[in-house]
Amino acid sequence: MSLPADPVDLTGRVQPVNDRPVNYDGKYVLYWMTTARRTRFNHALDRAASWARSLDIPLVVVEALGLNHRWASARFHQFIIEGMENNAAAFAEAGIQYIPFLEKSPGDSKGFVEAASQEAALIVTDEWPCFITPKIVAGLGKKSAVHVEAVDGAGLLPVRAVPKVFSRAFHFRNWHKKNIDPHLMALSSAKPLEGLQGKNVFDEKILDQWVPLSVEQLTNPSSLISSLPIDQEVAPVSVHPGGSSEANRRLTHFIHHVIDRYGEDRNQPDKVATSVLSPYIHFGHISTQEIWEQACRADAGENGEAFIDQLLTWRELGLNFCHYHEDVDTWESLPEWSRKTLEEHAEDTRPVSYTLEEMEAAETHDEIWNAAQRQLRGEGLIHNYLRMLWGKKILEWSSHPREAVETMVHLNNRWALDGRDPNSYSGIMWCVGRYDRAWGPERPIFGKIRYMSSDNTARKLRLKPYLEQWGVDPSLSM
Ligand SMILES: Cc1cc2nc3c(=O)[nH]c(=O)nc-3n(C[C@H](O)[C@H](O)[C@H](O)COP(=O)(O)OP(=O)(O)OC[C@H]3O[C@@H](n4cnc5c(N)ncnc54)[C@H](O)[C@@H]3O)c2cc1C
Repeated sequence: MSLPADPVDLTGRVQPVNDRPVNYDGKYVLYWMTTARRTRFNHALDRAASWARSLDIPLVVVEALGLNHRWASARFHQFIIEGMENNAAAFAEAGIQYIPFLEKSPGDSKGFVEAASQEAALIVTDEWPCFITPKIVAGLGKKSAVHVEAVDGAGLLPVRAVPKVFSRAFHFRNWHKKNIDPHLMALSSAKPLEGLQGKNVFDEKILDQWVPLSVEQLTNPSSLISSLPIDQEVAPVSVHPGGSSEANRRLTHFIHHVIDRYGEDRNQPDKVATSVLSPYIHFGHISTQEIWEQACRADAGENGEAFIDQLLTWRELGLNFCHYHEDVDTWESLPEWSRKTLEEHAEDTRPVSYTLEEMEAAETHDEIWNAAQRQLRGEGLIHNYLRMLWGKKILEWSSHPREAVETMVHLNNRWALDGRDPNSYSGIMWCVGRYDRAWGPERPIFGKIRYMSSDNTARKLRLKPYLEQWGVDPSLSM
């Protein structure tokens, strides 16, 4: 009997992770979902679904959430589990077996991949060039008894399609304008689950040992999350609930009511004039493809173009850097000119300096900065423009620029819902020169790095409502 034909990859996004064979007698195709935590517009899910159709066997999806990573906190766990609730509903409707798995104590998940792969034909997983994902993918490849494929669904362009690291946005913009079209012809599907076999085929004995979250736990995860050994001080954020439903609601609102004033108002903190989608993009609850398609259809002229430029040029620039560099947050990863000028000014007297603890607690003399830091702690985000000022002030107040980078990484990644992302490192490192050029006049501490001040910001922005909301420590106003 001849073997079924393997599905063809027309996207250029599929990478083998190990050299074990596909088990053509396998009972199911296993999609191990890690970063594209959604049920539509998902290249890895498309790939797993193609395998399931071509082998004529069911698809099983495991979405796992571990404990053992830096900055794991109640905030991020809550956000991810809220997304799992949406995914559980969508897979249930399509009849696909979905296993939302939460590690409850370190090491709980040990052996799960090995066991789950025994009866699988192959495993398909997400590729993402940042944080812990490359290690997770490599681990899957080692542990699995069968073939593992990783699928890059992080951006509109596959990261491997960009042939080199771009150090300036306008160079990258010029490059992608000429090269993106073929990739826009190979987009992911809006309805990947149609026509799949729906059947519970996963070994019950495995589920007895690695028990999936129940519907009740997905709907009401607070008590479970509060019992986990993760950072509980970084508390869940109710104004930004996780999940694809919320992401799509925000996208619709942005396209119908906000995009038309994006270019003009996006820097003003008195009205929300951006999409506020970065946490949803980061956790994979929405695809940038879907955002891009809707933004193009909105036909919002220069405002639409300004938005698409952030989504495409700036976001994919970060993916490009992470693909080519493991050391995204190190001093050595900065351009030579910026290291040189900052080192020349490293010993300059700091008129004011603060410790990490003082900054983390928003205890500086600067009312605007404290407000931004309180928004970060309270809401898990900082308004876009103020985020730049926030980083520049950390450079000014730290005893050494290397320490400033460490402080920014710690504060951003610990508190921000969209942290630990390629964009995190682009934004933080931009504050100390990445993607930028030398500016004059040369100043103390900053050298030739672009300077920003709170006084100028106060003149430029309409800050009153923002300061009314965040200018006071919420624990003091009770
Ligand atoms: C110090 C510092 C730290 C930052 N840390 C992060 C972070 O941890 N995670 C993060 O996603 N962004 C980060 N940024 C970039 C930017 O501030 C956020 O992407 C943006 O504010 C998110 O808001 P939004 O979703 O409403 O964006 P919109 O203006 O609605 O833009 C849509 C999307 O485009 C992308 N985008 C927008 N602006 C930028 C930018 N400057 N660089 C790269 N991509 C962009 C994001 O994916 C964003 O969600 C940081 C910037 C700075 C200066």
